Amino acid sequence: MIKINELNYNYDDLEPVMDKETVEIHHDKHHQAYANNLNALLEKTEYADWSLEKIVKNFQNIDQKLQNGILNNAGGVINHNLFFRQFSKNPQNKPTGDLENVIHTKFGNLENLLTELKAKGAKRFGSGWSFLVVQNGELEVIDAPNQNSPLLTNDNIIPILGIDVWEHSYYLKYQNKRPEYLDNIVKIIDWKVIEENYSDAKNNICKDIK
Ligand code: MN
Repeated sequence: MIKINELNYNYDDLEPVMDKETVEIHHDKHHQAYANNLNALLEKTEYADWSLEKIVKNFQNIDQKLQNGILNNAGGVINHNLFFRQFSKNPQNKPTGDLENVIHTKFGNLENLLTELKAKGAKRFGSGWSFLVVQNGELEVIDAPNQNSPLLTNDNIIPILGIDVWEHSYYLKYQNKRPEYLDNIVKIIDWKVIEENYSDAKNNICKDIK
């Protein structure tokens, strides 16, 4: 039985960037629905008691008839675990320490990284994500369609920051203005969380599947 994480903040704590109604529906309805669908899919199969971690580690060996549904719904749970975990009411507004250094080396500065992250999110046709990931020890910005978690589709990639560009993540407040949503959402990322994710990823740990 897969459960979603509780929010570490109130529904209205991310205003005005993300309005209360969007956070509530996105977390309690959309995120919850991925878990409900996943549990329904796995019920009465040999995978019924599997954790997200076990699903990720053994995805290629799972019955192929179930793989697409698991990609959509386990992917949905994993991606949203990351998404909601990376915000807070009083975010640390920039990276420090190790992460600051590698961002400087790889991208020149934080602005360049955010520009790439937003561009990938803006260009993603239809629904999907842009991610900052650790791939073979290196930072990379990638995008993905639908709920395709890189943990399920790629080897040796761990996402440490994820921007949801499904319309359900912004439509109530931003309507068709996805670029405006992207410009705003990067301002409420808690870089303390991303620093921890980066440190975990280097040790091959991902909290989103625990
Ligand atoms: Mn979403």
